[in-house]
Amino acid sequence: SSHPLSLPEFLLQHTPHRPSNPAFVDAFSDKTLTYADLTSLTAATASALLAAGVRRGDVVLLISPNSIYFPALSLGIMAAGAVFSTANHLLTRREIHAQVEDSRPVLILTTGELRAKFDGLNIPRPPVLIDQFLSTLVTPAADDDIALIDCRKIELDDAAVLMYSSGTTGRSKGVICTHRNLVYMAGVLRHVWGSTREDIYLCVVPLFHMFGFSVFVCGAVAAGAAVVVMQRYSLEGVLEAVERRGVTRIPAVPPMVVQLVRMVHVAGDYELKSLREVICSGAPLAKEHVDRFAACYPDITLSQCYGLTESSGPLTLCDGSEGRFNLSIGRLIPSIEAKIVDIRSGKSLPPNQNGELCVRGLPVMLGYLNNPEATSLAIDEEGWLHTGDLCYIDSRGLVYVVDRIKELIKYKAYQVAPAELEDILSTHPGVADVAVISYPDEEAGEIPMACVVRKAGFEIQKDELIAFVDDMVAPYKRIRRVMFVDYIPRSPSGKIIRRLLKDIDFLNQLTEILAR
Ligand code: ATP
Repeated sequence: SSHPLSLPEFLLQHTPHRPSNPAFVDAFSDKTLTYADLTSLTAATASALLAAGVRRGDVVLLISPNSIYFPALSLGIMAAGAVFSTANHLLTRREIHAQVEDSRPVLILTTGELRAKFDGLNIPRPPVLIDQFLSTLVTPAADDDIALIDCRKIELDDAAVLMYSSGTTGRSKGVICTHRNLVYMAGVLRHVWGSTREDIYLCVVPLFHMFGFSVFVCGAVAAGAAVVVMQRYSLEGVLEAVERRGVTRIPAVPPMVVQLVRMVHVAGDYELKSLREVICSGAPLAKEHVDRFAACYPDITLSQCYGLTESSGPLTLCDGSEGRFNLSIGRLIPSIEAKIVDIRSGKSLPPNQNGELCVRGLPVMLGYLNNPEATSLAIDEEGWLHTGDLCYIDSRGLVYVVDRIKELIKYKAYQVAPAELEDILSTHPGVADVAVISYPDEEAGEIPMACVVRKAGFEIQKDELIAFVDDMVAPYKRIRRVMFVDYIPRSPSGKIIRRLLKDIDFLNQLTEILAR
């Protein structure tokens, strides 16, 4: 037809999948949804929602850990013309309430364990349990041209997905992405990665986050690939899934890569020959870990990609042409405009100079829900999305992330990138994990403070760590304070949650003062 395609139509009716091929497979129970099942479940979900009175533009919230049903439910919501919204199931009741109050879903789908988190909310009807919802669906007979209900009425610029940025750098904001954003993303992921029906992806990163959603629900389905779904991350679970299922690619976040490197002796017990690529995203990956991955797993490519919720998925991808174990986050995806601008003057910078990455084009979100001020700060009048990341692009077009601009430490007139200092400290043999945060200082404004988890059996002193970094950096980047901690808090996308470390430091100091 001449009608533009919605995301579910594009994925389920215009891509080269085979109806009898597996689409989503549960890593533990072996329960499998074929592409025919995915299509019929999507259609059945859409008709059930329409029958329940859901209308075009309504928000439907799905909160659940990863499961093989998550993709069909999310696509069904979109096929009904509604907006698919989701959240981390680990959010507290208070956080979930804030999101529900902002987004006003007409229907909530969740699991029995999570239902209590919605108690006390003023919502039109109580949350519907996913199991119950699935058991009442009338699934059309499986064949490959099941009509996807209401898609005719959907416009490409309709809102399709509403995901909240996790607020690691401020209050959580609802990011609205359209069918156009996601159809484009699906095509890009399939094309640039060269994904095929022979690919077997492992889905261990969360589907409620834009990285997992774009890579699996959009990219893998667009290629007709199989996706093995894990509900919970464990290293052994990942290794076993690779061995048993012949997994070819694993999208991952930095803590998983670090664990693969640390636990190489555990990995040695598994047959990993099917695994071609681990693709890391979500937060900076230290050079030390990239190098060690290369040494530990010579047959597996470690690549990176980079994106934001606000860009509907990856803005850069490694296409394999640059060789393995690159420190770059890859090349810009096709058909977008990009520039690097000076963070003070806003002027465009030449290659190899650090500045803010700004992009314009098809992946840029529609805007933030109920927040025009934040929207106009993120997307300027000329349509440029300001990523908030300090990056540079080399003369070959490879992009590198230095750090988040908001996280740069302002030492006197200088800017210090915590990621650079974390990179250095992670090469120290006594350091198991590390985060660098800013610490207020009367004279300098801010100073870099290292929060260090010591490796068991190592007796390192704070002065030693300070001296270790001194030898490698310009004086203004010196670590001026060290705090030993038990662990480094991280978000599901692998980002260090620096505000929690600041709280720990505050409590430590308070305890010291009170004990005097
Ligand atoms: P908030 O923006 O409020 O912290 P969030 O953590 O949910 O919320 P995301 O949209 O998940 O935000 O994260 C996007 C950011 O993640 C990017 O702006 C960048 O800083 C970081 N990031 C993503 N991929 C990479 C990568 N490969 N290397 C370094 N940083 C990355």
